[in-house]
Parts: sequence; structure tokens; C-alpha cells
Amino acid sequence: MTHQPGPATPADFTVDTDAVLARLTAYRGHDAPTHGGRVLSYVYDSGLAALDELAARAAREVQAVNGLDPTTFPSVALMEGDLVAFGRCILHGPDAVGSVTSGGTESCLLAVKAARDTWRERHPGSTARPRIVLPQTAHAAFHKAAHYLDLDVDVFPVDPTTGTLPAGDLTRRLDEATALVVVSAPAYPHGVVDPVADVAGAAQEAGVPCHVDACVGGLVLPFWEAAGGGPVPPWDFRVPGVSSISADLHKYGYAPKGSSLLLFADRGLDRARYFALTGWPGYPVVNPTVLGSRSATSLAAAWAVTTALGEQGYVALTRRLVAATAAVRACVDGIVGLRVLGDPVGSLVAVVADEDVPEAEQVDPHLWAGAVQRRGFVLQGQPALTQSDGTGIPRSTHLTVTPVTAGLIDELTEALAGGAEDVRGQAGAGSGGGPDAAGGGVVGSAGLPDPAELARAAREDGELDLTAVLALIETLPREVSARMLVDFMAEFTEPRVESP
Ligand SMILES: *Cc1c(COP(=O)(O)O)cnc(C)c1O
Repeated sequence: MTHQPGPATPADFTVDTDAVLARLTAYRGHDAPTHGGRVLSYVYDSGLAALDELAARAAREVQAVNGLDPTTFPSVALMEGDLVAFGRCILHGPDAVGSVTSGGTESCLLAVKAARDTWRERHPGSTARPRIVLPQTAHAAFHKAAHYLDLDVDVFPVDPTTGTLPAGDLTRRLDEATALVVVSAPAYPHGVVDPVADVAGAAQEAGVPCHVDACVGGLVLPFWEAAGGGPVPPWDFRVPGVSSISADLHKYGYAPKGSSLLLFADRGLDRARYFALTGWPGYPVVNPTVLGSRSATSLAAAWAVTTALGEQGYVALTRRLVAATAAVRACVDGIVGLRVLGDPVGSLVAVVADEDVPEAEQVDPHLWAGAVQRRGFVLQGQPALTQSDGTGIPRSTHLTVTPVTAGLIDELTEALAGGAEDVRGQAGAGSGGGPDAAGGGVVGSAGLPDPAELARAAREDGELDLTAVLALIETLPREVSARMLVDFMAEFTEPRVESP
């Protein structure tokens, strides 16, 4: 590993570091705070500044490395090997094999690709269309994978009041055409853990692989009980029939964005995630993940963070999660008009209107999120959804609790309770808040909002009226709202200056 001193800076060009970084600082001024626990989604703040600094230094150390070829850059294989070994240990799969990917979506995509290619190999010449079977609460990444990989998706309703999956309904549907069944530990929307043992057992009998999506729980649930959080239903490689698990290092692994673990119980399935090609005139290609040339920075950062924390460190951080989540749940339980949906295991909580109290005392969860935001904490609204059996998952507000939440718990619970006071009895956008609140006030006589107009407003005020957007999603056909959001995002990200 030699760092040759580079050539002296050419005299005809100098890098104006300060000016460029000043502009970046100005851009960053528009961002939501990534640290401090005031944003309860997207960011996972350990509260340990030294850990962030370590990650940054590790990333810098490999800045110029190309992860494409671990034979040229063996540090990539060594770091990845350490992370896979760590995954084997905490997920109880002593023989599991796999990879570090760029994130949860890529891990899920590769789990689906491996299952699809294995299915094709086992069904040569079949004219059946392979499909993947999912609970309604499975992450959008699986729909995306099916879209990219041209698979059908069979979505199963969950109990709308508890978020739990009736395993029997789903397992009866496992057949020849099923390439993969997915369960979550836990599912992102409500933090509820699917009945992994029931589904995986039935899948094994049917000869169908079973992926456990532990993208968000994979570095929480292994430590939950040791951290005082109580028992966790079986969900990892100890469960017969579990064939692969995804666990994001860039969520509760506390690594910077760009890293997730994907492990397979079975070597055959693992090999099917690769793409290899020798039939072109260039270098032989062997890609274990989606990208070709790839940065090693997030791998090194994740490796450094997990190495520094080790199991003891994760247990210590999970203790803070346990305390903070219990306090949040107790707080919501004490608020008239709101309730926690189901019985989440881990540090995610979804809050819905309590329909057991008179309407005048109910709290619309999206109006509540707005009121809580005015009191200094950003929560995440989730739209209502009508399932294929006609039942409705109610609109909710999601809280991702992180270790830093523990240090802010008095302030946060005061904001949660006060926010409910502010909006109790008020009807939410789209009326009622039920899943079938079509024709509510948002679309109204004005018709569809113009996505370009929405984007302009969001860029100018730096804020988007998410409550209105969520109500629209509940009201419009899903394909229409999805297309509208594409237009919105494309407009939002268009260049803002003539030319830099
Ligand atoms: C976050 C998440 C994903 C997708 O992960 P990204 O890292 O955002 O790509 C998949 N499944 C679950 C359960 C998640 O929480």
C-alpha cells in the first residue's frame, strides 16, 4: 500500500478549496438537521461524535479505491469479510454468505434477483410468470425490484388495526410460480414484526425461498432483549426456512448512508445474485452487486463504525432506544384521541387516530405531525391505504426513535402532547382521515395541483405542504399520484442557475 507523492500542483491551475466549500456550506444550510434528534425519520444519530469522525476518516482513507476489483484492492474484500462475519454472528447464521451493498433497496433487489434466477434455473422452459409474495406492509423496494426484474407481485392484506400479517392466508398462496416470499422484521410503516417462523416454515415445505427484510431492524432486534427491551419473536437464520436477510448498516448500524448487509443461508442462492461476463473484449466482469466501479468509502465507514462499536456498543446504544421508545409509547398512550398502531417490536412507532373516542376528541395524525413540527420535531406522515380485501390501513404518523431521542425525551413528549392539544377535534385534510375519504378538500373544484407549481413553492419557502400531498395520495388513484410526484421531483431537482 504505497502512497506515491503526487506531482506538484501544476502552475496553471490552483484549486480554490475555500470558495467551493463555502458554497457547499451554503447549500447545506437548506437541509434538515442530521444530528440532535429533532428529525424522527431518515437519520439515525448515535449521539457519538467520535463515531462520525471515525467514519469520515475511514472513508477518506479509501477515497481513491475502486471496489470493482477486490483482487487489485484486497482491503475491500477484507473489510467486507469482517462485516459478513459480524452479520453471521448477530443474525445467527454461522455459515451464511453474502455481501455489503449500497443500501436497503439494493439488498432487497439482489435478494429478489437471486430468487428469480434460481426459480428460472429450476423451471427450465416454464411459461409461468414467476412472482413474489409480499405482505401489504413490505417495503416499496420489493415492488421496485419486481418492476426492474419483470416479476409479478402478490400483495397480502394485513390486519388494519394491528398491522399483523395473518400467515395462513399468505402461505396458502405459495405455489410453483412463487419465486420468493418476503416478511419484515419489522416492517417500516408500523414497526410490527411479521410472523417469520410461520411463513418461513411453510415456505420451506413449499420449496420457496423466504427473505426476511430486516433492513431497519437488523441491527436493533439482535440487541433488543439484552438491552432490556423484552423478548423478540424468532426472526433470524435460526428460523428454519429463512433463506436470506437484509440489514442496513446505514440505519441502526449508525454508518453514513451507502451500506447494507445482505446474507444468504445457502451458497447456491448467494451465487445467483452475481452477474459475470467474459464475452466482451474488455476485462472479465464479476459483479456481486448492481454497480460496476464502486466507491469503497461507505464500506470503509461502515466497517470502521461496526468495528468500533462491536456487540457491546450496539447493546449500549439499543438500551437508549429501549428507554426512549418506551417513553414515546407511554406518552402516546396517555394522549386522548391518538393510539399506537399494533404492538411494534423495536424502535419504530406509528400513531393513528383513536376511533374509540368521540370524534370531537380524536386527533388527526397528519394535523398532529404539523403541530408537533411547529413545536420543533419533524415526524413522518404516512397515507391511508385501502387493501385488496377492502379493509383500510388508517393514515398514520411514523416516528423513528434513535439513541439521541433518549436525551430529548422530556422536550419531545411535551411537543407530542402539546401538538395533540393544538389540533384535537379538527378534521384532517381530505376529511375524516379514513382510507376512502375521496373528494376531500384538497383536490376540490380546482382539480389536480400543478406539480411544477408545488415544486416552485417548495423551493421558494423551503417547505412542502406534506399534509396536502398525503391527502392527495389518499384521494387520487395511486398511479396518478405517483406520476404527479415524479413530475414534482423532476421539477424540484432541475438546475437552479444558468450554469455553474
Ligand atoms: C429502509 C428500508 C428499506 C430500503 O432501504 P434503503 O436503504 O432506503 O434503500 C427496505 N426495507 C425496510 C424494512 C426498510 O426500513
